[in-house]
Amino acid sequence: MSYLERVLENLKKNNPNEPEFHQAATEILTTLAPVVEKHPEYEEAALLERFVEPERVIIFRVPWVDDKGNVRVNKGYRVQFNSAIGPYKGGLRFHPSVNLSIIKFLGLEQILKNSLTGLPIGGGKGGSDFDPKGKSDREIMTFCQSFMTELYRHIGADTDVPAGDIGVGAREIGYLFGQYKRIRNEHVGVLTGRGLSYGGSLVRTEATGYGLIYIMQEAMKARGDSFKGKTVIISGSGNVAIYACEKAQSLGAKVVAMYDSDGYIYDPSGIRLDVIKQIKEIKRGRISEYADKVKGSKYTAGCKGMWSVPCDVALPCATQNEIDGQSAALLVKNGVKYVAEGANMPSTLDAIEVFQKSGIVFLPAKAANAGGVATSALEMAQSSGRLFWSFEEVDKKLKDVMVNIYHNIDDAAREYGREGDYSAGANIAGFVKVATAMMAHGIV
Ligand code: NDP
Repeated sequence: MSYLERVLENLKKNNPNEPEFHQAATEILTTLAPVVEKHPEYEEAALLERFVEPERVIIFRVPWVDDKGNVRVNKGYRVQFNSAIGPYKGGLRFHPSVNLSIIKFLGLEQILKNSLTGLPIGGGKGGSDFDPKGKSDREIMTFCQSFMTELYRHIGADTDVPAGDIGVGAREIGYLFGQYKRIRNEHVGVLTGRGLSYGGSLVRTEATGYGLIYIMQEAMKARGDSFKGKTVIISGSGNVAIYACEKAQSLGAKVVAMYDSDGYIYDPSGIRLDVIKQIKEIKRGRISEYADKVKGSKYTAGCKGMWSVPCDVALPCATQNEIDGQSAALLVKNGVKYVAEGANMPSTLDAIEVFQKSGIVFLPAKAANAGGVATSALEMAQSSGRLFWSFEEVDKKLKDVMVNIYHNIDDAAREYGREGDYSAGANIAGFVKVATAMMAHGIV
């Protein structure tokens, strides 16, 4: 059995009941064989065993009182996975599905994603099984304050800098920051995704979605192609999906379908993003309302059917494992040419295999959605320098980061004999930098 196989087997044995973590680790480790072959010293230093073991896992109780006076209890998590190249960095997810397996898969991915940005940030992730849906603003605030009352002692501007993720947007970051500032008496860049009035960065809101389109634009350019006239489908209708849609449309693409967790809308004349923003960002409503507002559009209950809509470009931007092998095969059969992952691990291992065998361009999450965390790192730089850059400045830096990521993963795939396999390219390029730093630090 090879070194990599042994590490993977032990990981599964030592971390039972963590299927998402196993899935992410399998996807990563199976592509690292050429790197490990080239560096036998990694095995002697048990580098991979250390790489897949979080430096620290914090699990805590989050008690809070709802509007009716009932005491409620949720679980809080922060996994500080790897700080070899910088302070832990990664979002907080509030969703009822959150558990240790999900936070660990996200944290492991985050290490490599952050490395790919070329910026000095380590990997971490956190969250809670709290469900923000249907809660009042006061309940959200109470929950966020309780969550931060424990988390504050583990984070810091040079230690661990959380941000948003599913269920954690500008409102939640505001409440979390307010409580941190109150407890620590410090106005520092301890969270990113902050509002513009208290240390946030322009473009952070748009960054993940815009970055997704920038990297795909570069992949298209390398093939003499562009977004102009392309038919696009996007899953989700949250932060990432909305700004991916905005940028794709501005480059001349037609986005015809989007979804939320209840179902999808199909609008053959092109999604009206102003209507989506009104429903999702302002009203926090359901996407089904779109069909009542826009003539000629159609709502279908259930998400999976959206993958049968013919398109040139598919952008999964909602959640993990939303495209299985069957949906991937349907996309390919209907002529998809490009897939870029806005969400984290939205494609199952089967789906990735289908995409790769079909020869379409497939950009994996850790490269394709790195624009969010890259702009968070730019927010950190502005915070520590007490600076405020213009929209154009930040947008240009974001675009440069995404273009660089594309060329780095393309080069790495080529260098290690996997031309065009961007999953391998991203894992290898991200891993090499982290491994080099870990080796330099000795056995820690
Ligand atoms: P949001 O909470 O803003 O939006 C999530 C969207 O996905 C909503 O439309 C939601 O629908 C939908 N969704 C969530 N769970 C499911 C499900 N089980 N089935 C179908 N749809 C679902 O989150 P973000 O846009 O911030 O994040 C989306 C993805 O992008 C996540 O995987 C996240 O980890 C990843 N990501 C986000 C970054 C960021 O900067 N925000 C950075 C990098 C990655 P509903 O409203 O019904 O819940």
